[in-house]
Amino acid sequence: MLAEIDRLPDESAVETATPHVVIRNASRNFVQKISAVEALLSRVGMNYADRVVQAVSDVSLEIPRGTAVGLVGESGCGKSTLGRMAAGLLSATHGEVIIDGERMDAGHAGMSARDMLRVQMVFQNPMASLNPRQKVVDIVTEAAVYHGLIRRRDRQEFAAELLREVGLPPDVLNRLPHQFSGGQRQRIGIARALSVSPEFLICDEPVAALDVLIQAQIINLLLELKERRKLTLLFISHDLGVVRHICDEVVVMYLGRIVERASTADLFAGPAHPYTQALFREIPRIGSGRRSYEPISGEIPSPLSPPSGCHFHPRCPCAIEKCSLETPPLIPVGNGRLARCWLPSV
Ligand code: SF4
Repeated sequence: MLAEIDRLPDESAVETATPHVVIRNASRNFVQKISAVEALLSRVGMNYADRVVQAVSDVSLEIPRGTAVGLVGESGCGKSTLGRMAAGLLSATHGEVIIDGERMDAGHAGMSARDMLRVQMVFQNPMASLNPRQKVVDIVTEAAVYHGLIRRRDRQEFAAELLREVGLPPDVLNRLPHQFSGGQRQRIGIARALSVSPEFLICDEPVAALDVLIQAQIINLLLELKERRKLTLLFISHDLGVVRHICDEVVVMYLGRIVERASTADLFAGPAHPYTQALFREIPRIGSGRRSYEPISGEIPSPLSPPSGCHFHPRCPCAIEKCSLETPPLIPVGNGRLARCWLPSV
């Protein structure tokens, strides 16, 4: 779909780069409080209690320096929650986030504001993440001035240089966000993230709200910035087609757990996990003049009561009795790949 992408990631990058980001046994629970009505009913003897949703469950992940790792899965799989944990915006219920050898998870004592600048995030909806009353010059210099990275009097020049880097003309510095298109606003969001010179950039569905042509332009920009600034990227997307163009490795999540991890080349050569295979079948295909795709059967189960054993078993065409009884571990399936399945395709 993204024909205008200039090039694919360097497949050798994963083997040669050194680890930069380590997410270790990270879990994140959310508590859903009982409603006022349920609280009243519980007083007269009915059984209601707060419910715990495990949005991310025991995820471990290493991201080599200078590489891009894609995090994919359906809505509600925990990928955005994991991204916010990696960005230090959300604390982990268990586990830790280590960047450049230092604990960086939210709420961890000893982490300075300067440390936090090393990680920045680009969001899906730039209109929602940009202050509509702030001029572009203020948006892209606010953090750098606040943290003393630039002098206030150098803002115009600094902002103009950042805009040039993300492909916007410097004469838009005094405009407001609503005066830009969606793609331009995303460029402003990227410029804001770059303003504090991060080393690790987390992009949460950065092109999901854009049309295909603009998607390709933003992906090309991120690829250029990754190379020029030697960035490490965590790229969150529901779209395997987009991830293919920018990521060296792909991690697939389902109901809070990693179910497959592989180099992009290996994953696209043949996914090992039935869920990943189902995601591939969902990608629209054009053949005989007709557009077709095969949606994954069944509903995504509620994270409030995930299925026993392998969470995917109620929707899996390959399920056997063991799948509903025992949780499969992440199993090595060759060439550094991992799959959480009792019957992986290898
Ligand atoms: Fe399907 Fe069983 Fe593998 Fe789960 S463990 S993906 S249910 S075959």
